[in-house]
Amino acid sequence: MQEEMQRAVKMNAISELAASIAHEVRNPLTVVKGFLQLMEKDEQGKKKEYFSIALSEMKRAEEIINDYLNFAKPQMVSSKTLEVNQVLSEIINILTPYSLKENVELTFASTKELFINVDRNQFKQVLINLIKNAIEATPKNGNVHVDLKKDRTLVKITISDTGEGMSAEQLAKIGTLFYSTKEQGTGLGTMVSFRIIEDMGGTLRFESKLQQGTSVTIILPLVQIVQNEKAIKNNCS
Ligand code: ADP
Ligand code: MG
Repeated sequence: MQEEMQRAVKMNAISELAASIAHEVRNPLTVVKGFLQLMEKDEQGKKKEYFSIALSEMKRAEEIINDYLNFAKPQMVSSKTLEVNQVLSEIINILTPYSLKENVELTFASTKELFINVDRNQFKQVLINLIKNAIEATPKNGNVHVDLKKDRTLVKITISDTGEGMSAEQLAKIGTLFYSTKEQGTGLGTMVSFRIIEDMGGTLRFESKLQQGTSVTIILPLVQIVQNEKAIKNNCS
């Protein structure tokens, strides 16, 4: 019953989300427009400064849209069987330059031949949101470790960081609309991730200790491809 109520509250929040996002994106876009107009005039040779402000505001708008992506395009969801290791490797490759820039070591311990049935883009979105958060929370010379393994009939992905961690109060707010402790944060990433993983029939769990680090666990049902294929083969012969 309490879960149902929580879900109703969440759905209500989601329906309010669209308007909020439009509003959020409009702010940086207005700034960009203003600076482009200034550049057009460029009276005191300040083009470079204006350009850099416009660019960083564009980046902000892009981030809001990226975090929001999965609410904006729910109709495009299509689940397919995919190998987790392959998608995770791809995401690690995408995020490695970012972690290098932040001086955070990004490591990956993988298990091959584990299959899940999910929408590829949504799954990638969740991984990017969570690994990016881990990197952002971790100070220089820290480590973010991604671990993929099988746990009976489940796939278990753990993202652990040696970052700032969260207090019990902060931990309780994780995944609520617009909750962010970052100056440029959207507070959408974890909320979107919770929704996507739940829709995939999985669970998402955060564990954290202040000043020690955070560990995020994604659990998804395993698709037993090899056994199914064997069964089909046996039935045919
Ligand atoms: P944003 O990253 O834009 O702030 P998120 O929804 O992705 O929004 O995250 C919400 C908040 O949760 C963050 O601002 C941060 O305070 C907290 N958080 C998320 N992941 C971690 C982590 N790995 N370590 C510490 N805090 C985290
Ligand atoms: Mg985030």
